[in-house]
Amino acid sequence: MARTSRTDATPSRASRRAQVPAGPVRRPEAVLFDRDGTLCVDLPYNGDPRRVRPTATAAAALARLRSAGVPTAVVSNQSGVGRGLITMDQVEAVNRRLGELLGGLGPVLVCPHLPADGCGCRKPAPGLLVAAAARLGVPPERCAVVGDIGADMAAALAVRARGVLVPTPVTRAEEVAAAPETATDLLAAVELLLTGPAPAAPRQPQPQPWPWPRAVPA
Ligand SMILES: [Mg+2]
Ligand SMILES: [Zn+2]
Repeated sequence: MARTSRTDATPSRASRRAQVPAGPVRRPEAVLFDRDGTLCVDLPYNGDPRRVRPTATAAAALARLRSAGVPTAVVSNQSGVGRGLITMDQVEAVNRRLGELLGGLGPVLVCPHLPADGCGCRKPAPGLLVAAAARLGVPPERCAVVGDIGADMAAALAVRARGVLVPTPVTRAEEVAAAPETATDLLAAVELLLTGPAPAAPRQPQPQPWPWPRAVPA
């Protein structure tokens, strides 16, 4: 995926946010996964299901959650649709293939918009997370979000969900440093969520609360 959207918290909003007493703690009741770079190898604007390759421990991580009775969903920015590079039918074909390879994903929610569209669903905005949590019948703040970039973590924090960053070689160092929690792979992330200690108070920088500003820099 292109990584063109970057929005930083303003100091005033960040300090207001820091006054919220309860952090995103506890074992999640559902886990929302990013798709590209998280559940599957990131092939930018891939519309070909034959090219889908799950990441190393994705199948094991999802199986672990199924056996623990924790529902899952996928929340994915697909601006290639808005750019006219791929169709929603192609995105859905890729999603189906990934689901076949991983034994099921749960609901898959997709933002097709461009960063400049200023929609409420493109991560780091929280709209996809809110919708996915509703589909699973779980309050967003009782979900966890697992992703590979800072926008996934910002969206998680915006709904007070637990966020676990699983870095790839292209994840930026500052995004790793700012992540609420990190894990070396998806199975480790799931084990952390199911059995690990609850995280301390969220680290800085804090995200801006919902509603996310409509003007997202491209
Ligand atoms: Mg990703
Ligand atoms: Zn959107």
